Amino acid sequence: MEEKTGRTSGSAFLKASLIITVFILVFCGYTAFSCWQNNKEILSEVQQAKMICEEAMEERDAKELELKQREKYRDELLDSINEIEDVKKEFFALAKETEDRILNGELDLKIAYLTFDDGPYHRSNQFLDVLDEYDVPATFFYLMKCSETGYAEEDAAYDAIYRRVINSGHTLANHTATHKLGKEGVYSSIDRFVSEVIRNREFIYDRYGYKTEIMRFPGGSDTSSKIPDIIPRLNELGYGYVDWNIACGDGGQLQPANVYRDNVLNNTKDKKVIVVLMHDYSLNTLEALPDIIEGLDKQGYIFLPLFPASSMCRH
Ligand SMILES: [Zn+2]
Repeated sequence: MEEKTGRTSGSAFLKASLIITVFILVFCGYTAFSCWQNNKEILSEVQQAKMICEEAMEERDAKELELKQREKYRDELLDSINEIEDVKKEFFALAKETEDRILNGELDLKIAYLTFDDGPYHRSNQFLDVLDEYDVPATFFYLMKCSETGYAEEDAAYDAIYRRVINSGHTLANHTATHKLGKEGVYSSIDRFVSEVIRNREFIYDRYGYKTEIMRFPGGSDTSSKIPDIIPRLNELGYGYVDWNIACGDGGQLQPANVYRDNVLNNTKDKKVIVVLMHDYSLNTLEALPDIIEGLDKQGYIFLPLFPASSMCRH
């Protein structure tokens, strides 16, 4: 009985041991499997993270490269702007010297500053073609004509004209943003006038990187009693102003081309330096322009674009 009991407990023990062993084996196997499974998942997560990281690094490298290229482009652009500014400075220093010597009677020459007001206009390109043909520089007193000021349809065409004026070496000058006269107009207050000048100045600078330094009062500097008080404010902004001593006459009633031509060529007597007022919208002015250029050339005038240090630019 005792023997039987001993055998029974021995086999139970074996059974239990076997079960435990199997259980341990299963447990270990399961643990190993789930560890492997976990490792696999972790590995794939790590790989994914690695890929994301690599992509981010590539993106960062590309952005860095783009930034460097942009910086290089900006530096090159600034260099060329500075070069242009240097050339302009040299040119205007020479122009100033020439003008002084002419006015002092040291040089037997005369200077004509051709000026065109109130543009751009669609016809401006034809005027620029004539100036190109004769290789004559001029000055354009332009307004702020863009979508913002009611020229949405003309914006693209006018944009190209502003650029052409600047790139052709003409002087682009400020003639206020709107040129509006009357009660609500540019002369309604000193602040209103100054804000119009600033608005146009910022428009030209922001769009074209071109700094205007010369302005012309709409109607001329005797148009409003407020002008003497406006001038110091303009000086603070770095502006000088230019009137004219010859008008071709195209600002009033329409006249034939020969009248505009004669108005210029017959009024140069005793004038060593002339500033000619014209507008680049009139077909008759366009027709008269070659005769005006040729006639002035025959009278001994050389053509220059206006510059701030010129005797004709007042402060
Ligand atoms: Zn005007």
